[in-house]
Amino acid sequence: MKIINTFTSELPVDKNTDNRPRQVVESCSSFVFPKPLSHPSLIHKSNEVLELVGLSSLSQEDLTYFSTGQIILKGFKPYAMCYGGHQFGNWAGQLGDGRAINVAEIKHLENTLTIQLKGAGATPYSRTADGFAVLRSSIREYLCSEAMHYLGVPSTRAMSLALTGESVVRDVLYNGNPKKEKGAIVGRVAASFIRFGSFEIHTARQDFDTLKKLTDYTIKHHFKNLGNPSKATYLNFFESVCNLTRKMIVDWQRVGFVHGVMNTDNLSILGLTIDYGPYGWLENYDPNWTPNTTDIQHKRYRFGNQFKVSLWNLTQLANALYPLIEDVEALTTILKKYSILYNQDYQTMMLTKLGIKNEKDMDNLFIHKLENLLENSEMDMTLFFRNLNKFETNQLEIHLSLLEKNSYLTRNEFKVFAPKWKQWFEEYTTRLEGVKNNERIELINQTNPKYVLRNYMAQLAIEDAENNNYDLLNELYKLLKKPYDEQPNMEKWFVKRPDWAKEKIGCSMLSCSS
Ligand code: AMP
Ligand code: MG
Repeated sequence: MKIINTFTSELPVDKNTDNRPRQVVESCSSFVFPKPLSHPSLIHKSNEVLELVGLSSLSQEDLTYFSTGQIILKGFKPYAMCYGGHQFGNWAGQLGDGRAINVAEIKHLENTLTIQLKGAGATPYSRTADGFAVLRSSIREYLCSEAMHYLGVPSTRAMSLALTGESVVRDVLYNGNPKKEKGAIVGRVAASFIRFGSFEIHTARQDFDTLKKLTDYTIKHHFKNLGNPSKATYLNFFESVCNLTRKMIVDWQRVGFVHGVMNTDNLSILGLTIDYGPYGWLENYDPNWTPNTTDIQHKRYRFGNQFKVSLWNLTQLANALYPLIEDVEALTTILKKYSILYNQDYQTMMLTKLGIKNEKDMDNLFIHKLENLLENSEMDMTLFFRNLNKFETNQLEIHLSLLEKNSYLTRNEFKVFAPKWKQWFEEYTTRLEGVKNNERIELINQTNPKYVLRNYMAQLAIEDAENNNYDLLNELYKLLKKPYDEQPNMEKWFVKRPDWAKEKIGCSMLSCSS
């Protein structure tokens, strides 16, 4: 493992080293040290991620100190990144890493990776906030980023979860009930934490010099095959970001993940799922569902709108890169292509979920009928798709009774939809002619996870962890490493959301407070 230092040595860094909230101009980052802590403790670590970064031989004690920012690797100066962003559709100006600090950039084997500690203390970008994170949101980020990785969805990784040993005050529902909570730090890892907003901030300030430096840097280190800086290269870069984003969004739709805060500061330039805040997993298939209580009114970040928002966000990125490209038509063409390719990929993905991989079966209407039925009959998304592996074409009635059990409707309410389901399954049966059953089942099992981090599962692990019991955290961490495998002892997690979780805070509704 080798320490490298490209972000701060190749890009302009804030000359002011005062750790006070301020506007940071003509810079991509500010040097800042994590907050000193007297009693940090490690709760969990990912051996795989530690291996990736070449730190698997650290002792438990050293890892505790490293993953809370108390030891800094020799030759490295920690820093927070400067970025801006559009939040809920409005330009919000400078945001930046208000509580995340990059503590290492390493090259290990073939990988170049950055290690970032989220919740490690205030930075010049903290604005009026404290720079900390609470245990509940840190557990959610820790479990979900690894779960996403093992689902095959591009994501930042989680290396470690630690307690700061200090408490943090949060008003979870923003209703005047502040409470003390345990402070925590997630060590997270990615090839880069550069976001759409990292580019937007410089263009908004008409600082095209820094914009160009950052873009050239990003291409040089993360899009190496695109070649030397030129207008054509910048266009290719933008198109590559569109392609990576498309793949990520299709994957989110495939597994039923709702990000919840798709602001442009939360979209990674590498198409990684990043910043796990008030995210959630679809239970009853509801395209209008948003887990984020701040988003309840307009539902901008609802499941069924994630593609449109990604397009909107990419349009903001196109605006940000425009000064380097100065070709509206070329950028618009790429954005149009984004929509066309997304629709194709989405259809293919949905057919794959049904165990059909033949392109000739491409049919919007068939998929659309399915989506409507799933929605109207309040079907559990994960159970429905995974259970298609049990469907036998000559046993339709048996499958219908399974559907009834996987729906959140009562038996009587479900009856209305039974004939429509029957019809849909008859059409499905016709489409399966010529498809080998074992191949269909294999495809279904590879595409539709058996286990996802249902909202209530994370909440149960959080409640235990707040009482110093980490058994469930460990159990879920292990479970979600093999989301497509049958795990006979874990069938209790392959069930519908329990009734108590329907309206519970932390389960179906999540605030941004973290
Ligand atoms: P998010 O919506 O969590 O991605 O955060 C939006 C912005 O607020 C980012 O610039 C964060 O760094 C910042 N932020 C969120 N929580 C805190 C906090 N507790 N202290 C400082 N900055 C924060
Ligand atoms: Mg963020």
